[in-house]
Amino acid sequence: MKILNKLQSRATELTNLNNILALLQWDQEVMLPVGASDGRASQFSVLSTIIHQKITDPLLGEILQDLNGVGEELSAADQALIRVVRREYEKNTKLPEKFVADFARLTSEALPVWVRARKQNDFAIFLPLLDEVISMSRQKADFLGYNDHPYDALLDLYEEGLTTAVLDILFGSLQKDLSPMLQRRISQQKSIAAKLEKLPPMEQGVQVRFTERLLAEIGYDFSRGRQDISAHPFTTSLGHNDRRVTNRFNPDSLEFIFSALHEGGHALYEQNIGSAYSDSPLDEGVSLGIHESQSRLWENVIGRSHLFWQTYYPLLQEFFPHQFKNISLDDFVGYINRVDPGMIRVEADEVSYNLHVLIRFELEKGLIDGTITAADLPGLWNEKYNNYLGVTVDSDANGVLQDIHWAHGSFGYFPTYTIGNLAAAQIWHRYCLNDTDCRQTLQQGKLAKIRKWLTDNIYCHGALYPPAELLRRVCGEELNSSYFIEYLKNKPEFSL
Ligand code: ZN
Repeated sequence: MKILNKLQSRATELTNLNNILALLQWDQEVMLPVGASDGRASQFSVLSTIIHQKITDPLLGEILQDLNGVGEELSAADQALIRVVRREYEKNTKLPEKFVADFARLTSEALPVWVRARKQNDFAIFLPLLDEVISMSRQKADFLGYNDHPYDALLDLYEEGLTTAVLDILFGSLQKDLSPMLQRRISQQKSIAAKLEKLPPMEQGVQVRFTERLLAEIGYDFSRGRQDISAHPFTTSLGHNDRRVTNRFNPDSLEFIFSALHEGGHALYEQNIGSAYSDSPLDEGVSLGIHESQSRLWENVIGRSHLFWQTYYPLLQEFFPHQFKNISLDDFVGYINRVDPGMIRVEADEVSYNLHVLIRFELEKGLIDGTITAADLPGLWNEKYNNYLGVTVDSDANGVLQDIHWAHGSFGYFPTYTIGNLAAAQIWHRYCLNDTDCRQTLQQGKLAKIRKWLTDNIYCHGALYPPAELLRRVCGEELNSSYFIEYLKNKPEFSL
C-alpha cells in the first residue's frame, strides 16, 4: 500500500531525529563541558523545531486522513504504527503553536524560580508562577479534549487511555489498605543492625564495577549499551542497538545498587524489543507506566528479595569485604527492605511510596478541575502527609516544593509511578503461575529464564499494543491493586 509506505518513511525519519535529540540530551547530562551549555541550547531549539514541523506537517495529516478506516486488512504492526503516529500528530496539532511557545517559556522561567524557592524554603516565591503553570495546564487539557474529567487529557499524554475514574478506584483501594499496613509494619519491625546504619565509605571505582557485573547478570547487553555517571540516574534510547543507562555513586549510600537494577529494568525492556521495529516509533516501551513496571520489577520484586540475594550477597561481600564481611545476609536484606515513612518520595520504602503518589494525584486532580488553588497547596500537602503517612512535614522545601514535576508543567505524570508498581506485582504473579518454581528460579539466580518470559510476553512487542491491552494479554485481566497489596502483605523480607 503506497500510502502506508509514505507513513513508514516519515515515521522512520522522525524516529531517527528523536534518537539524535536523545543523543544531544544524553551528552548534556553525561559529557558536556560547563561552558558549552549555551551552544547546546540553540542546537536543542533548532532540532526541536524541525521535529515539531515534521510531526505537525499538514501532509502527514493528509496521510493519516487517507488511512482513516483502513485497518482490519493490515498487519498488527502496521495498525499500531498508524495508531502511534496518529497519537503523536494529534497531541502536537491540538495545541496551538503560540500556546506551546508560551508554555515552554513559562516553564523555563518557572524552573529556576522553583529551585530558589526550594533552597530558601519559601513557597511564596514560587506561587505566582505555579499558579500560571496550573492555569495553562487547565487550558492544555481543554485544547487536548476529554470526555469526563479534564485531568484525563493530561494523564493520556503519559499513559495512553488512563483516566481519573480508573485512578480513583486504584488509589481508593491502596489508601484503604496501605495506611494501616504501614503502621503495622513499623510496629513489627526489628531494629536495624547498627553496622548497616554507618557503613565504611565505598570506593566509587568498585561501585561502578559491581553495578556493571550486576547489569550483566540480569542480562543487560553491554555491546548494545553502556553505563555512565550523571547527576540523576536515567535510561535513554539512541537507537535499536544503543540503550544506555546512567547511575550516581555516593560513597555512603547503597542507592547505586537499586538504581542499577531500576535503570537496568528499563534498559532490558528496550534492548529486547523485536528487531523488526528498528527505526520505527514502535521501537520503544509502550508507556511510562509499563516501563516503570519493568524497572520496579527488577529493582524491588526481584532485587529486594531474599531469594535474589542468596546468590548475589556473596558477590557483594567479595566486592566490598570491608563493608559487608561481618553483616549477615538476613540483616542486609532486612535493611534494604526497612519500612520508614518519611517526607521525601524518592527515598520512600515500598509500603509508603504509593501514598506519596496518591497525595500528588489528589492534589493534581483538584488543581486541574479547579476545586483546589495553588495557594491551598502547602496546607493540604502537610495535612495529607499527616493523615496518610503519619508524617509531620517540617518545611515546604521537604514538602510541597520537593519535586520538579510541577515546575516542568508535567501534570499527570506522577500516577505512572504507581501504575508501574501495581503492574510489576501483577506481572510477577502471572509469571509465577507460569513458572510454578519461580521462587527456586530466583533463588538459583536463573534470571535468564525470567528475562526470556518477560521478553516473549512484554519486551518483544515494543509499542505494538496500547498499555491496557498489553496487560490484558499478559495477565488476562485489567490492572488492579490486589496483587500489589498481597505482595506487600506476604513479603517475608519485612520481618527480617
Ligand atoms: Zn524509572
